[in-house]
Amino acid sequence: MSEELSKKLFNKKENGWKAVDSNEKQKIFDFSNGYMEFLNKAKTEREFVKHARELADKNGFKDIMEFDTLKPGDKIYFINRNKSMYLAIIGTESIDKGLHIIGSHVDSPRLDLKPNPLYEDTEMAYFKTHYYGGIKKYQWTTIPLSIHGTIVKANGEKMDICIGEDENDPIFTITDLLPHLAQEQMEKKLKNGIDGEDLNLLIGSIPYGEKGESQVKLNILNILNQKYGITEVDLTSSEIELVPAFKARSLGLDESMVAAYGQDDKVCAYTSLAAMMELESVKNTAVCILSDKEEIGSMGNTGMESHMFDFFISEILNKLEVNKPNLLDKVFCFSKMLSSDVDAGFDPIYASVSDKTNAGFLGKGISLNKYTGARGKSGASDANAEYVAWVRNVLENSDIKYQIAELGKVDVGGGGTIAYIIANKGADVIDCGVPVLSMHAPYEVTSKYDVYSAYRTYKSFWNA
Ligand code: MN
Ligand code: MN
Repeated sequence: MSEELSKKLFNKKENGWKAVDSNEKQKIFDFSNGYMEFLNKAKTEREFVKHARELADKNGFKDIMEFDTLKPGDKIYFINRNKSMYLAIIGTESIDKGLHIIGSHVDSPRLDLKPNPLYEDTEMAYFKTHYYGGIKKYQWTTIPLSIHGTIVKANGEKMDICIGEDENDPIFTITDLLPHLAQEQMEKKLKNGIDGEDLNLLIGSIPYGEKGESQVKLNILNILNQKYGITEVDLTSSEIELVPAFKARSLGLDESMVAAYGQDDKVCAYTSLAAMMELESVKNTAVCILSDKEEIGSMGNTGMESHMFDFFISEILNKLEVNKPNLLDKVFCFSKMLSSDVDAGFDPIYASVSDKTNAGFLGKGISLNKYTGARGKSGASDANAEYVAWVRNVLENSDIKYQIAELGKVDVGGGGTIAYIIANKGADVIDCGVPVLSMHAPYEVTSKYDVYSAYRTYKSFWNA
């Protein structure tokens, strides 16, 4: 009796794997293999956008600039400075009924080179770095790092570099003090254990020639000159990022999880992109945002705060030949959005920071965050109950398991996403993504069940 009643009344969050048959499991694992392959070639925002474009081209999407007019069914994209991208499929419904937007970000925490990075000390050559996003600095020492980026010469000539991913490439590392001499360091607070100014990448130790100044630095510059035709000043007009050289791998004896760098937020970016590639016709115009600069506040012309996104939607209105004063505002006010960003997965080793009844768990499906923010919801975009109900309806109709969570205990901390930016334009927005363990670490962990759940959620949202 009570068993029946509790089944009816409780909101019980079941482990998703329990209901997965072998056929479904194969689908989940196959999808995750595609995800891991993509992660291995797309570790930076520029690489993600490059490969997203290739995928979009293959699936019949075209640059919006190639169109004079648009009609329902057209598949378009706009690439913003090679670092962010917006894709859309024009819906059959009049566009003033609003867009269905899914927005993620493709930048991840990492180490950027300083504008004048190269120096020599004690006949060893280094690159100086400035970290990007919220990192625990000690996690970035003594691991293999690779160098990714773009160098632009003053004449506009541009080259992409990627060293440390191929098995035959060298890798790089940031050294740390041996425990034998670390007595003083070990007394420090964890956050001060490694100084930001000490995150210097070891890149060489052979001097050029027999005598002279800074011969190891000279040798490095000579190698760079022979390989890329650059001189030291060309490094000032570059964007070079250091990321972990690890490959994405299946995690666990049961292979149920993915361990990889940059899953925040490439897991939501990839799953939404994959879902969009499979859409045929949609009712409301479907929009997929792959934004940049989320990890440092969404500012700048490739960040979500930029007017570049408004420009893209305005171009759609112009090319549909429906634009008129204030139509853009109207479109946003009637739009719905899933801000697809990762959630903090509940970690039993660090259980004390989470409220177990309001946490996102690995393996329990897509995680919705009604609000983010910190300390009294400060800075939060809080989804309206009506909209949460609408999203629940979509998920329940598609038989997708979901959990509604918040990021950590009250007053312990918090976080933000791009949700508030689109909500401020008038759209209904809720955060909706994959729970992650070790978020912002060089190696982050997700459940394959949740990765597949995200893909199914995004597809259902656009088809709603
Ligand atoms: Mn994120
Ligand atoms: Mn993040």
